[in-house]
Amino acid sequence: MAAPKHWRTALERVEKFLSETYFTDCNLRGRLFGDRCPPASLSYFQTPRRIPYDEAVRQEFKLAQVGDSFGPTWETCWFKVELSIPPAWAGREVHFVWESDGEGMVWRDAQPVQGLTKEGEKTSYILTSSMKETEPHSLTLYVELACNGLFGAGKGSMIAPPDPDRRFTLSKAELVVFNRDVYELLVDLEILLDMAQLLGEENQRSSQALCAANQMVNVCDVTDPSTFPAARALAAAIFSQRNGESQHSIHAMGHCHIDSAWLWPYEETIRKCARSWVTVVRLMERNPELTFACSQAQQFEWVRSWYPGLYEQIQDFVAKGQFIPVGGTWVEMDGNLPSGESMVRQFLQGQRFFQQQFGRVCSEFWLPDTFGYSAQLPQLMQGCGIRRFLTQKLSWNLVNSFPHHTFFWEGIDGSRVLTHFPPGDSYGMHGRVEEMLKTVKNNKDKGRVNHSAFLFGFGDGGGGPTQKMLDRMKRMSDTDGLPRVQISTPDQLFSALEKESSQLYTWVGELFLELHNGTYTSQAQIKKGNRECERILHDVEVLSALAMAQDCGFQYPASQLQRLWRCGTAGCSAVLLLLNQFHDVLPGSCIQLVVEDALEYYAEIRRVGAGLQQEAVQSLCRELLEPEAGNAGSTLVLNTLPWERTEVISRAGAAGTETLVLVTVPSMGYAVVREPLLSPQPVVVRKREDGSIAMENGVIAACLDVMGRLTSLQLLDSQRESVPDGCCANQFALFDDVPLYWDAWDVMDYYLETRKPVTTLLKPLEITLAGGLRGSVSFSLQIGKSSTLTQEIILDATCPYLRFLTQVEWKEAHKFLKVEFPVQVRSTNATYEIQFGHLQRPTHWNTSWDWARFEVWAHKWLDLSEHGFGVTLLNDCKYGASAHGNILSLSLLRAPKSPDATADMGHHQFTYAVMPHLGSFQDAGVIQHAYSLNCPLHTVPTRSAPSPPWSAFSVSSPAVVLETVKQAEDRPGAIVVRLYEAHGSTVIAWLQTSLPVEEAILCDLLERPVGAERLQLEQQGLRLSFTPFRVLSLLLILRQ
Ligand SMILES: [Zn+2]
Repeated sequence: MAAPKHWRTALERVEKFLSETYFTDCNLRGRLFGDRCPPASLSYFQTPRRIPYDEAVRQEFKLAQVGDSFGPTWETCWFKVELSIPPAWAGREVHFVWESDGEGMVWRDAQPVQGLTKEGEKTSYILTSSMKETEPHSLTLYVELACNGLFGAGKGSMIAPPDPDRRFTLSKAELVVFNRDVYELLVDLEILLDMAQLLGEENQRSSQALCAANQMVNVCDVTDPSTFPAARALAAAIFSQRNGESQHSIHAMGHCHIDSAWLWPYEETIRKCARSWVTVVRLMERNPELTFACSQAQQFEWVRSWYPGLYEQIQDFVAKGQFIPVGGTWVEMDGNLPSGESMVRQFLQGQRFFQQQFGRVCSEFWLPDTFGYSAQLPQLMQGCGIRRFLTQKLSWNLVNSFPHHTFFWEGIDGSRVLTHFPPGDSYGMHGRVEEMLKTVKNNKDKGRVNHSAFLFGFGDGGGGPTQKMLDRMKRMSDTDGLPRVQISTPDQLFSALEKESSQLYTWVGELFLELHNGTYTSQAQIKKGNRECERILHDVEVLSALAMAQDCGFQYPASQLQRLWRCGTAGCSAVLLLLNQFHDVLPGSCIQLVVEDALEYYAEIRRVGAGLQQEAVQSLCRELLEPEAGNAGSTLVLNTLPWERTEVISRAGAAGTETLVLVTVPSMGYAVVREPLLSPQPVVVRKREDGSIAMENGVIAACLDVMGRLTSLQLLDSQRESVPDGCCANQFALFDDVPLYWDAWDVMDYYLETRKPVTTLLKPLEITLAGGLRGSVSFSLQIGKSSTLTQEIILDATCPYLRFLTQVEWKEAHKFLKVEFPVQVRSTNATYEIQFGHLQRPTHWNTSWDWARFEVWAHKWLDLSEHGFGVTLLNDCKYGASAHGNILSLSLLRAPKSPDATADMGHHQFTYAVMPHLGSFQDAGVIQHAYSLNCPLHTVPTRSAPSPPWSAFSVSSPAVVLETVKQAEDRPGAIVVRLYEAHGSTVIAWLQTSLPVEEAILCDLLERPVGAERLQLEQQGLRLSFTPFRVLSLLLILRQ
């Protein structure tokens, strides 16, 4: 073998031999394709709708030409392509090549057969690998072309709002002869070239690879394929030189991360799934070793409904173990904002789907692209049969590099799951030498484990893996100098990691993504819809379950509820709450078309939910709702929360008047109110000479200045002041909000340097309700140049918090509105509610890990407490928050312009509240008050006779929250209840019920009984034992 004298010239010589740009007249690349032949005819039909094949082919088609452009954006063009293969091509591999800017699907004989997306390197449909005389030489194909790119149609940049007028050009449609032998040589040479370049000149393997490549060029006569085998043998000799035993093992798995909606609407995702998965199926037919990990039950359900033929093929490959369902959830949801129960339902609906469709549940949770992961997830995964977790998103951290790729992740309750981040920091690899070397080099747990994952394939409609990726990795399976690469499965990977896990470290608490923290606030209406609909479904389930338990004639609306959580009927594309929790929808990082769909789904949950609730109440309280002659008006008040509540409510009186009454309603039950309770102490509201107003109710006393700011907030019992001297709480502040790139996603640290207090008064503070059961005051402010804010500050009799009912007309651009509460509390940690629990985050910025959390998320409350006293902020639909020093802030509104230029413009209404308390927040009942603020009592006017109050459930310990009451999924006539320990304590609690419970069984989150033991029903109820933040589910079998 002639060894090259000069490293660089040899290297570049090989490069030119492969170049797509230079010397294609005489190099190897120029020989990849042989003869070409245009279609016999090409015609098209265009429609604004996404229509089925049957409907499309019946339309009238017009002549089309290569070079024509089609559009505008979101239209669909159907092309009819008649092909006639020249007889001279006998024995050759023939491809139909299609290149356009849009996303294409080839249909043949009424079946989808191949996705064609240039951006995913999918431009060929292989008609035959060796044209035979007997094969038909003429055929008709249809190409369904979506007028959008892989990433939608952003005007100017990927995440800019879509350009509505974009045109999509058809640049190629032809038959070609494909020279497979040239292709194989190209792949050989590319790998050798990469080895030579990337291993470095000083590395022996680099020189060996270059030497072989150089010799291959010498041996190869591009005009004479008979010289190719000798060249290939030279490459094979290098590739077959094996590694030593210590080499790292890479588990490669095909993947195609498809966002369920993002820069395109939900409906397009259905087609993206079909295009991508049919491509994967074609590839599997030719490569029986190919594996493909595929998440999101929703996407399977879409393909099942819309592409039943394709779905059957997928089922076959699932059975063969090649097409591998993973994740276990309905969609790859946001990991921060969904409630605990929503997270459970993501798994419950997902795992049930996978069990029903494929005969098994998933054993890995799969969330590669989601923006941070709640510290409650490990317990929820464990409860749903999952011990393993894969993501890679924390590689996006802006400040701190996460210290592990393989580790145990421990949640707030102590549950641990084996977690793996593919060390190549991507879920869209291409099977290249560079990526393999990065995977090994980057791995932060090198000495501890010797296996890692490698997910390859184009995502988001790019059709996943390609033949070339597979062919590259075949050559790298065991080649000295490169890591071992095997096509593998998630199970094989995690099983290997489990065997090596004894040395692994444990990360405790949340996996916080130090980026995308604007997604706690962007698209406020979506956030509000989520919180409200979580509450609606909670209430409908509680009331329906109680109605069912009380009256076996009542039909629990199982199928309607399933549709509101997620869609169950074939052909239905409107999938509701769980779908909207997808990681670009609930976070608000989607285009306007998606926002419109999402808000419509919430509207449907509200509408259908209201009807279902009414039916449940009618059944549950039938006797109470039957009017009795002679009875004056009374009110039925229902409480869906598991504790007794005494609150001021408004009830309808004669002639549409509303009157306030103070009522007490038992836990998860109801009361009929005729004579209202007398308030122990009325609310008093007084205006002072300086225009400020004082409000008090015997529990707290507030003093507000003319701009509605709290200058004092006292707990009357102790005279403890909450607002520091000289400070104002309920202070609005406006910040500049211009991130580096990800507009709807990111709030950057430097925004804090642009703070401007909102101090332009439009309408000074005035009294709107003078007191008694309720006192209120209101004022208006100008925000920025053109936005306004009106607030009503409300204090109810007996209530320990002050409520701020806020209306904003929001017309800003790149501004961030927050409200600040400086409080007279000193603590280095603040507490934030998360799913089924809470956690602490520092209030200081000592380390980079501390300050990187300058903007964080919380659910219904956050609290700053020192020993014996604290102040809590409650909210009814906000998620962004921060606590720095002694200032608690709630993030209210943002105004990003990409990818939705209209994001958050318009009217907003939301409520937050401030609650000072003695003792700890646990002892003060903060958790319960936050629930009560979010779940108002329900009232129904009635004329029934007085009757005693009724309670279905109560829990003996304030540490334990009974969150969920629903019908069991598989056992009509049985109820599932879910409780959790909310204080962070070890405690025994008794669950009491007045329902006819015959038997009680502990179950997991998938409602499968745990252990054989039945719980004893004792006088005090069911004895339940909790450790901190433990979630317990019980199956209650009712007496028929
Ligand atoms: Zn994604």
